[in-house]
This record gives sequence, C-alpha cells and structure tokens, in this order.
Amino acid sequence: MNAVPQPFERIDLHAHSSCSDGVLSPAELVALAATRAVELLALTDHDTMAGCEAAAQACAAARIAFLHASELSGLWCGREVHIVGLRLDPRSAPLAAHLEGVRGQRAERIRAIGLRLDQHGLDGAAIADAVLARAGTPTRLHLARELVQRGHAKDEDEAFKRWIGRGQRAAVPAAWPTVEATVAAITAAGGMAVLAHPHRYQLSAGGLRELCGQFKDAGGAGIEVSLPGMGPGDAGRAAALARRYGLAGSCGSDFHVPGVPWRPLGRFAKLPEGVVPISERLGLEPVRATLAASQASAGP
Ligand code: MN
Ligand code: MN
Ligand code: MN
Repeated sequence: MNAVPQPFERIDLHAHSSCSDGVLSPAELVALAATRAVELLALTDHDTMAGCEAAAQACAAARIAFLHASELSGLWCGREVHIVGLRLDPRSAPLAAHLEGVRGQRAERIRAIGLRLDQHGLDGAAIADAVLARAGTPTRLHLARELVQRGHAKDEDEAFKRWIGRGQRAAVPAAWPTVEATVAAITAAGGMAVLAHPHRYQLSAGGLRELCGQFKDAGGAGIEVSLPGMGPGDAGRAAALARRYGLAGSCGSDFHVPGVPWRPLGRFAKLPEGVVPISERLGLEPVRATLAASQASAGP
C-alpha cells in the first residue's frame, strides 16, 4: 500500500448548480463530475451554500472529496469582484448572516431592474417576479434567460448588451459588501478566500496588483490561475500575481451548463511554475489518503 498520499490530479474548485445560475441539480453535477473522474470538487453557487449538503452526500457515495463553498459578490473601488470561499463551515452564523444580506440585495436589485424594464415598455415586474419565484439565488443571468424567453433578446449575451449589462438602459449597479467584509465572512467560517477569474475585471496590470494587494491584506488566501477562457497571457499574469502576493493557485471550470465544450467540468490541476496549489494549503492530504484507501479496498 502506498503510504505517501498523492496529490489530487483532477480538481474543480469552481462550479455552479441550479441553487444559483447553473442548470444541473447538485446531485446531477456530482454525477457528471464522477464521469469526468474529478477527485476533488467544490460547489460554488453564488451567495449560497444551499446545495452543498446534497452535493456532499453525492460526493461521499461517488468517493469524490468535497468542499463546502460559495462564490461571493463583493465591491472593490466601485467594481464587482467575485471571491470564492472554500472549505466553509455551513454552521457559521456570521457567514449565514452575510450570505442572507447579499441575497436580499440581489432580490432588491432584480426588482429595481424590473422597474427600469417597465419604463422601457417591457413587462419588467413580471420578469422580475419570474426570476424571484424560483428557488435558489436570483441572478442577472436568470433575468437574461427570461428576456430571451420573452423574445426581448436573441441570446443571453444580447440581453446583457441591450438591457441589463453595466451601463445599459435597465442596468442597476449593485451595492455588494466590500472585499474586506467578504473575506472576513469567509475567514470567520474557517474558509479560504480565493479571488475568482482575475482576467475578467477589465483592470489594468496596476489595478490588478492594487486589488490583489488589498485582497491579501484583507486575509485573502488564493487566486484562480487556471480557468477555461484564460489565455496564456491571462494565466501568466494571474500566476505572477499569485507569486508576488503569496497567494495560492486555484483552478476550476466555472461550470454552469453542460454541453459547452470549452468549459468542461473538471480540470487537470497542472498549475504554473512556482505557484502553490490551494489544495495543499487546505490541508487535504488526509482526505486524499482516506479516499485512496477506500478506493483500494473497494477493489477494481
Ligand atoms: Mn454565474
Ligand atoms: Mn464569477
Ligand atoms: Mn462562477
């Protein structure tokens, strides 16, 4: 028997279920992860951990290591940034209160966007109601899907560009908690805060350094360095930020919808040179060893 725990090879630390804006239920997501031989999975629904218990149970049955997690929206210099909290304690009261507050703001924002759509002659109140009626975190992606369904846009992308995207006619800016408050809520729940998709914030190199410096000072632990849609330049810049600010590297798919070939669930956890994998900082070696032992005893 191998006494030295091997590192995880295929991990996904960023994936969504129908508890936010993904389309698969937590159990369906885990079933897909199992077919893709994912060894370590985090469910990172927007501002909720509602699907984590179901996902944890499905992962235990499929012998996949699982992390309770969530992708939190925060505000930095007037900009929305996303912070993934990994290995969260689902019983943390401060985190639960934080998430509830953010979800309340989300609902208010959806209603406000509905009013603006009304002003432009669309049935905005009905659109907002439809989004708020479904279970799970309401997001602008749901609004976009509703706009497409009602024929106000040909696809989700156009719904953002025409109606609800930043600066568009029905856009309403969000009033998320600060990055500091967001990291504090994650840390209070025993979690590790990871700056999500740094290449998507349309920040200059200097702006990104500023963000990473403040994120690290606030208690940030990691940064996503490997995601689909990151070109070699983006990945290189993210890796440089990880090294410069002592942030561990995280990777995932930001999976929402099956059948999108360029955004598959489960990535090989091959991180750039000199970047510490976040799985090491999370202290997952015992989990890995236990899983390996149970796989060995289960036989071929
Ligand atoms: Mn999303
Ligand atoms: Mn995001
Ligand atoms: Mn995401």
